[in-house]
Amino acid sequence: MIDSTILIKIPNKHIMSLDKAKTPIFWLSLSSCFCILLFSCHSSNSSSVSDVKKMANSKEQLKIEYIAHASFLLTYRDHTLLLDPFADSVWISYTFPRNIKADAIFSTHPHYDHDGGLFRDLKPYWESEIAFYQDPGNYEIGNFRIQGIKGKHCEPYGYEFDQKNTIFIFEVADLRIAHWGDNEPINDALAEQLTDIDVLMLPIDDSYHILKADETAEVINRINPKVIIPMHYKITDLEPTPDKPKNLETIDKYIGVRQNVIKLEGNKKEITRSDLPSSQEYWVFKHSPLVK
Ligand SMILES: [Zn+2]
Repeated sequence: MIDSTILIKIPNKHIMSLDKAKTPIFWLSLSSCFCILLFSCHSSNSSSVSDVKKMANSKEQLKIEYIAHASFLLTYRDHTLLLDPFADSVWISYTFPRNIKADAIFSTHPHYDHDGGLFRDLKPYWESEIAFYQDPGNYEIGNFRIQGIKGKHCEPYGYEFDQKNTIFIFEVADLRIAHWGDNEPINDALAEQLTDIDVLMLPIDDSYHILKADETAEVINRINPKVIIPMHYKITDLEPTPDKPKNLETIDKYIGVRQNVIKLEGNKKEITRSDLPSSQEYWVFKHSPLVK
Protein backbone atom coordinates (compact mmCIF):
# COMPACT_ATOMS: atom_id res chain seq x y z
CA MET A 1 0.00 0.00 0.00
CA ILE A 2 1.25 3.46 -0.87
CA ASP A 3 0.93 5.93 1.97
CA SER A 4 0.83 9.70 1.72
CA THR A 5 4.44 10.29 2.72
CA ILE A 6 5.75 13.56 1.32
CA LEU A 7 9.45 14.11 1.02
CA ILE A 8 10.89 17.59 1.18
CA LYS A 9 14.48 17.93 0.18
CA ILE A 10 15.95 20.83 2.05
CA PRO A 11 19.01 22.56 0.74
CA ASN A 12 21.49 21.07 3.18
CA LYS A 13 20.75 17.69 1.61
CA HIS A 14 18.90 16.23 4.60
CA ILE A 15 15.65 14.55 3.70
CA MET A 16 12.77 15.03 6.08
CA SER A 17 9.80 12.74 6.03
CA LEU A 18 6.33 14.31 6.64
CA ASP A 19 4.21 11.27 7.26
CA LYS A 20 3.05 11.99 10.81
CA ALA A 21 1.10 15.18 10.20
CA LYS A 22 -1.02 15.09 13.29
CA THR A 23 1.26 15.57 16.30
CA PRO A 24 2.56 18.84 17.81
CA ILE A 25 6.03 17.39 17.34
CA PHE A 26 5.27 17.22 13.66
CA TRP A 27 4.30 20.92 13.49
CA LEU A 28 7.34 21.81 15.53
CA SER A 29 9.50 19.87 13.10
CA LEU A 30 7.71 21.43 10.15
CA SER A 31 8.29 24.96 11.43
CA SER A 32 11.97 24.18 12.14
CA CYS A 33 12.19 22.81 8.65
CA PHE A 34 10.87 26.08 7.18
CA CYS A 35 13.20 28.01 9.42
CA ILE A 36 16.10 25.97 8.09
CA LEU A 37 14.78 26.52 4.58
CA LEU A 38 14.50 30.28 5.11
CA PHE A 39 17.91 30.37 6.75
CA SER A 40 19.40 28.37 3.89
CA CYS A 41 17.88 30.75 1.34
CA HIS A 42 19.20 33.65 3.37
CA SER A 43 22.67 32.14 3.61
CA SER A 44 22.72 31.29 -0.03
CA ASN A 45 21.84 34.94 -0.72
CA SER A 46 24.64 36.12 1.55
CA SER A 47 27.11 33.73 0.00
CA SER A 48 26.27 35.06 -3.42
CA VAL A 49 26.81 38.60 -2.11
CA SER A 50 30.13 37.53 -0.61
CA ASP A 51 31.02 35.80 -3.89
CA VAL A 52 30.42 39.08 -5.67
CA LYS A 53 32.55 40.86 -3.06
CA LYS A 54 35.20 38.19 -3.42
CA MET A 55 35.21 38.65 -7.18
CA ALA A 56 35.56 42.39 -6.73
CA ASN A 57 38.33 41.82 -4.19
CA SER A 58 40.16 39.29 -6.31
CA LYS A 59 41.45 42.21 -8.36
CA GLU A 60 42.81 43.64 -5.12
CA GLN A 61 44.80 40.53 -4.32
CA LEU A 62 48.49 40.27 -4.93
CA LYS A 63 49.33 37.15 -6.89
CA ILE A 64 52.67 35.54 -6.02
CA GLU A 65 53.78 33.00 -8.56
CA TYR A 66 56.92 30.89 -8.24
CA ILE A 67 58.74 30.08 -11.48
CA ALA A 68 61.71 28.16 -10.01
CA HIS A 69 65.07 28.84 -8.30
CA ALA A 70 64.93 32.51 -7.17
CA SER A 71 62.42 33.65 -9.78
CA PHE A 72 58.88 34.84 -9.09
CA LEU A 73 56.11 36.82 -10.73
CA LEU A 74 54.20 39.41 -8.71
CA THR A 75 50.91 40.52 -10.22
CA TYR A 76 48.61 43.21 -8.94
CA ARG A 77 45.72 44.57 -11.01
CA ASP A 78 47.09 44.93 -14.53
CA HIS A 79 50.82 44.88 -13.75
CA THR A 80 53.23 42.00 -13.46
CA LEU A 81 56.82 42.12 -12.26
CA LEU A 82 59.31 39.37 -12.98
CA LEU A 83 61.97 38.80 -10.33
CA ASP A 84 65.35 37.17 -10.88
CA PRO A 85 64.88 35.25 -14.14
CA PHE A 86 67.52 32.53 -14.57
CA ALA A 87 69.54 31.60 -17.65
CA ASP A 88 68.77 28.33 -19.38
CA SER A 89 70.78 25.37 -18.08
CA VAL A 90 73.69 27.28 -16.60
CA TRP A 91 74.64 25.64 -13.27
CA ILE A 92 70.99 24.66 -12.74
CA SER A 93 69.75 22.06 -15.24
CA TYR A 94 66.42 23.46 -16.35
CA THR A 95 65.28 26.24 -18.70
CA PHE A 96 63.23 29.37 -18.18
CA PRO A 97 59.69 29.17 -19.60
CA ARG A 98 59.06 31.31 -22.68
CA ASN A 99 56.18 33.71 -23.34
CA ILE A 100 55.95 34.91 -19.78
CA LYS A 101 54.42 38.38 -19.77
CA ALA A 102 55.83 41.05 -17.49
CA ASP A 103 55.88 44.84 -17.36
CA ALA A 104 59.31 45.03 -15.76
CA ILE A 105 62.12 42.78 -14.59
CA PHE A 106 63.87 43.23 -11.24
CA SER A 107 67.15 41.35 -11.01
CA THR A 108 69.05 41.36 -7.72
CA HIS A 109 72.51 40.85 -9.28
CA PRO A 110 74.42 39.90 -12.43
CA HIS A 111 74.74 36.14 -11.83
CA TYR A 112 73.33 33.85 -14.54
CA ASP A 113 70.84 32.33 -12.11
CA HIS A 114 69.37 35.80 -11.43
CA ASP A 115 69.79 37.91 -14.60
CA GLY A 116 68.79 35.58 -17.43
CA GLY A 117 72.46 35.39 -18.46
CA LEU A 118 72.76 39.09 -19.46
CA PHE A 119 76.13 39.59 -17.73
CA ARG A 120 77.43 36.59 -19.66
CA ASP A 121 76.16 38.15 -22.89
CA LEU A 122 73.55 35.47 -23.37
CA LYS A 123 70.71 36.60 -25.62
CA PRO A 124 67.73 37.74 -23.51
CA TYR A 125 64.61 35.61 -23.95
CA TRP A 126 62.32 38.50 -23.05
CA GLU A 127 61.20 41.31 -25.34
CA SER A 128 63.75 44.09 -25.57
CA GLU A 129 61.26 46.81 -24.53
CA ILE A 130 60.68 45.29 -21.08
CA ALA A 131 62.38 47.48 -18.47
CA PHE A 132 65.19 45.72 -16.58
CA TYR A 133 66.28 47.03 -13.17
CA GLN A 134 69.20 45.91 -11.05
CA ASP A 135 70.33 49.05 -9.20
CA PRO A 136 69.40 50.54 -5.83
CA GLY A 137 66.78 53.29 -6.07
CA ASN A 138 63.05 53.92 -6.06
CA TYR A 139 60.77 52.75 -8.83
CA GLU A 140 57.06 52.79 -9.58
CA ILE A 141 55.31 50.32 -11.87
CA GLY A 142 51.50 50.53 -11.84
CA ASN A 143 50.50 50.32 -8.18
CA PHE A 144 53.83 48.82 -7.16
CA ARG A 145 56.32 51.02 -5.32
CA ILE A 146 59.71 49.39 -5.38
CA GLN A 147 62.73 50.19 -3.29
CA GLY A 148 66.12 48.78 -4.23
CA ILE A 149 68.47 48.61 -1.24
CA LYS A 150 72.20 48.44 -1.79
CA GLY A 151 73.54 45.18 -0.44
CA LYS A 152 76.51 42.92 -1.11
CA HIS A 153 76.74 39.42 -2.55
CA CYS A 154 77.66 36.73 -0.04
CA GLU A 155 81.18 35.34 0.08
CA PRO A 156 83.01 33.91 -1.74
CA TYR A 157 81.10 34.73 -4.93
CA GLY A 158 80.41 37.64 -7.25
CA TYR A 159 83.85 39.28 -7.44
CA GLU A 160 83.48 39.52 -11.24
CA PHE A 161 80.81 42.20 -10.65
CA ASP A 162 82.13 43.72 -7.39
CA GLN A 163 79.71 41.60 -5.35
CA LYS A 164 76.79 43.78 -6.31
CA ASN A 165 73.45 42.65 -4.86
CA THR A 166 70.31 44.77 -4.58
CA ILE A 167 67.62 43.70 -2.13
CA PHE A 168 64.25 44.77 -3.51
CA ILE A 169 61.19 45.65 -1.46
CA PHE A 170 57.92 45.56 -3.40
CA GLU A 171 55.14 47.54 -1.77
CA VAL A 172 51.62 46.97 -3.08
CA ALA A 173 48.11 46.26 -1.74
CA ASP A 174 49.24 47.25 1.77
CA LEU A 175 51.86 44.48 1.70
CA ARG A 176 55.65 44.61 1.77
CA ILE A 177 57.46 41.80 0.01
CA ALA A 178 61.26 41.56 0.07
CA HIS A 179 63.56 39.52 -2.19
CA TRP A 180 66.97 38.85 -0.63
CA GLY A 181 68.79 37.83 -3.81
CA ASP A 182 72.11 36.25 -2.79
CA ASN A 183 72.98 38.88 -0.22
CA GLU A 184 75.51 38.43 2.55
CA PRO A 185 74.37 38.14 6.20
CA ILE A 186 72.22 40.91 7.63
CA ASN A 187 73.79 43.98 9.23
CA ASP A 188 72.40 47.00 11.07
CA ALA A 189 72.06 49.14 7.93
CA LEU A 190 69.99 46.47 6.19
CA ALA A 191 67.89 45.74 9.27
CA GLU A 192 67.01 49.44 9.57
CA GLN A 193 65.68 49.50 6.01
CA LEU A 194 63.98 46.11 5.98
CA THR A 195 61.18 47.07 8.35
CA ASP A 196 57.59 45.82 8.36
CA ILE A 197 58.33 43.09 5.86
CA ASP A 198 55.33 40.79 5.48
CA VAL A 199 56.79 38.28 3.05
CA LEU A 200 60.50 37.50 2.67
CA MET A 201 61.87 35.50 -0.24
CA LEU A 202 65.02 34.01 1.23
CA PRO A 203 67.71 31.68 -0.17
CA ILE A 204 67.69 28.53 1.96
CA ASP A 205 69.05 25.08 1.18
CA ASP A 206 70.46 22.19 3.18
CA SER A 207 74.05 23.01 2.14
CA TYR A 208 73.56 26.64 3.29
CA HIS A 209 75.00 27.75 -0.03
CA ILE A 210 74.24 31.48 0.42
CA LEU A 211 73.71 31.98 4.15
CA LYS A 212 74.97 29.66 6.88
CA ALA A 213 72.47 28.22 9.37
CA ASP A 214 73.06 30.87 12.04
CA GLU A 215 73.04 33.65 9.43
CA THR A 216 69.71 32.44 8.06
CA ALA A 217 68.28 32.41 11.58
CA GLU A 218 69.58 35.92 12.22
CA VAL A 219 68.00 37.33 9.05
CA ILE A 220 64.67 35.77 10.03
CA ASN A 221 64.91 36.96 13.65
CA ARG A 222 65.80 40.52 12.79
CA ILE A 223 63.38 41.03 9.91
CA ASN A 224 60.68 38.88 11.52
CA PRO A 225 58.45 38.52 8.44
CA LYS A 226 55.00 36.93 8.68
CA VAL A 227 55.88 34.62 5.80
CA ILE A 228 59.19 33.23 4.60
CA ILE A 229 59.26 31.83 1.09
CA PRO A 230 62.36 29.61 0.69
CA MET A 231 64.03 29.85 -2.72
CA HIS A 232 67.37 29.07 -4.39
CA TYR A 233 67.47 25.37 -3.49
CA LYS A 234 67.82 22.18 -5.51
CA ILE A 235 64.48 21.20 -7.04
CA THR A 236 64.74 17.42 -7.22
CA ASP A 237 62.28 16.71 -10.02
CA LEU A 238 64.04 19.22 -12.29
CA GLU A 239 67.55 18.02 -11.43
CA PRO A 240 68.05 14.44 -12.64
CA THR A 241 71.78 14.27 -11.85
CA PRO A 242 72.48 13.54 -8.15
CA ASP A 243 75.49 15.86 -7.67
CA LYS A 244 74.05 18.78 -9.65
CA PRO A 245 73.78 21.68 -9.26
CA LYS A 246 77.17 21.76 -7.60
CA ASN A 247 77.07 22.89 -3.95
CA LEU A 248 73.30 23.20 -3.81
CA GLU A 249 70.94 20.98 -1.84
CA THR A 250 67.21 20.61 -1.35
CA ILE A 251 65.34 22.14 1.61
CA ASP A 252 64.00 18.80 2.87
CA LYS A 253 66.07 18.75 6.07
CA TYR A 254 65.49 22.43 6.81
CA ILE A 255 61.72 22.28 6.55
CA GLY A 256 61.57 18.73 7.94
CA VAL A 257 62.39 19.92 11.46
CA ARG A 258 59.99 22.87 11.45
CA GLN A 259 56.34 22.90 12.49
CA ASN A 260 55.26 26.08 10.75
CA VAL A 261 55.68 24.92 7.15
CA ILE A 262 52.84 25.18 4.65
CA LYS A 263 53.47 23.19 1.48
CA LEU A 264 51.36 24.72 -1.25
CA GLU A 265 49.54 22.59 -3.80
CA GLY A 266 50.76 24.68 -6.72
CA ASN A 267 53.03 27.53 -7.72
CA LYS A 268 50.59 30.41 -7.21
CA LYS A 269 49.00 32.14 -4.27
CA GLU A 270 46.76 35.19 -4.20
CA ILE A 271 46.85 37.19 -1.00
CA THR A 272 45.56 40.26 0.73
CA ARG A 273 46.75 41.58 4.07
CA SER A 274 44.08 39.52 5.88
CA ASP A 275 45.55 36.28 4.49
CA LEU A 276 48.79 36.78 6.40
CA PRO A 277 49.23 34.29 9.24
CA SER A 278 49.13 35.57 12.83
CA SER A 279 52.34 33.70 13.62
CA GLN A 280 55.26 33.16 11.30
CA GLU A 281 55.00 30.53 8.55
CA TYR A 282 57.15 29.13 5.76
CA TRP A 283 55.30 28.83 2.47
CA VAL A 284 56.91 26.29 0.15
CA PHE A 285 55.72 26.73 -3.42
CA LYS A 286 55.81 24.14 -6.16
CA HIS A 287 57.80 25.25 -9.19
CA SER A 288 55.95 26.38 -12.30
CA PRO A 289 54.73 23.48 -14.46
CA LEU A 290 56.11 25.45 -17.42
CA VAL A 291 59.70 24.93 -16.25
CA LYS A 292 61.29 21.93 -17.95
ZN1 LIG B 1 72.25 32.61 -6.96
